[in-house]
Amino acid sequence: MKLYKVKAILVALACFTVMVGCSSDEEEVNNQEEKESANEKIHIVTTFYPMYEFTKNITKDKAQVDLLIPSNIEPHDWQPTPKDMAAIQKADLVVYNSLLMETWLSSIQESLDKGQPLFIEASKGISLMEGSEEGADHDDEESDHHDEEHEQLDPHVWLSPVLAQKEVQTITDAIVKQDPENKDYYESNSQDYIEQLKELDELYRTTLDKASNKEMITQHAAFGYLAKEYGLKQVPIAGLSPSEEPSPAKLAELKKYAKEHQINVVYFEETTSPKVAQTLAGELGAETEVLNTLEGLSKEDQEKGLSYIEVMKKNLKSLEKSFVNK
Ligand SMILES: [Zn+2]
Repeated sequence: MKLYKVKAILVALACFTVMVGCSSDEEEVNNQEEKESANEKIHIVTTFYPMYEFTKNITKDKAQVDLLIPSNIEPHDWQPTPKDMAAIQKADLVVYNSLLMETWLSSIQESLDKGQPLFIEASKGISLMEGSEEGADHDDEESDHHDEEHEQLDPHVWLSPVLAQKEVQTITDAIVKQDPENKDYYESNSQDYIEQLKELDELYRTTLDKASNKEMITQHAAFGYLAKEYGLKQVPIAGLSPSEEPSPAKLAELKKYAKEHQINVVYFEETTSPKVAQTLAGELGAETEVLNTLEGLSKEDQEKGLSYIEVMKKNLKSLEKSFVNK
């Protein structure tokens, strides 16, 4: 215990002399005990829910892991407050999915000194695909809207259980680099979690193999990688961001498409308004089902102890309703 204290003081001193206060002035000295235990652990700020869960499963209690974007808030349009900026600045590591998702991060990265904190892009090394609609037989009539979408790359990689494994590995490597003393611990946790993701992938594969019908109408284009992985076709109502409102022409096109392909379920999300999906379903005489993007996890789901893997299993059950039990 004494040694720890000496170490903590030395670390604090070093910080202080080198950077004149790596933990800035205000509230610091009030709780020495708390501060010491915080100093022993690396401090990781994660952006939205899956980033938090992936990281937490690697570090368990050996790091302080915080979730920046409240999980009941849709992260596409989120913007940091000055308090959030301060939290980012104090962290050792910041884990995010992609600058295409956390668009607000690039200006923060530019404004901070290099290497302080370290930013980890979990989707690094994954080749991103275009966020275009696959499946809908659209062409000439609806124009600019689509061109815009074609230019954007799709950041929703975490929704593929296969790509989620890659994200976990990337996060693991960065954490190990930052805190090599606990290398074995992190790597063994990471392997366990990746094993669970592999099982999830296997479950998706065997279940969706039986699918007779492959088209799914989703609320926004979040499921492109999942669709690609399991041979489904995503036909999104909105674009890559749920805030994009579909035009009447687009809705008419979707209606036509759904009828042609005998689509009997329209999927909507938990964190955004289901109005458009419900209207479309009503006009088609189709059912609605929740397909959770995991862009957030409701307080209720968190209290129930639901995790990425459990929510993904629920999503699979929803998918089965339109694909397998037809
Ligand atoms: Zn999204």
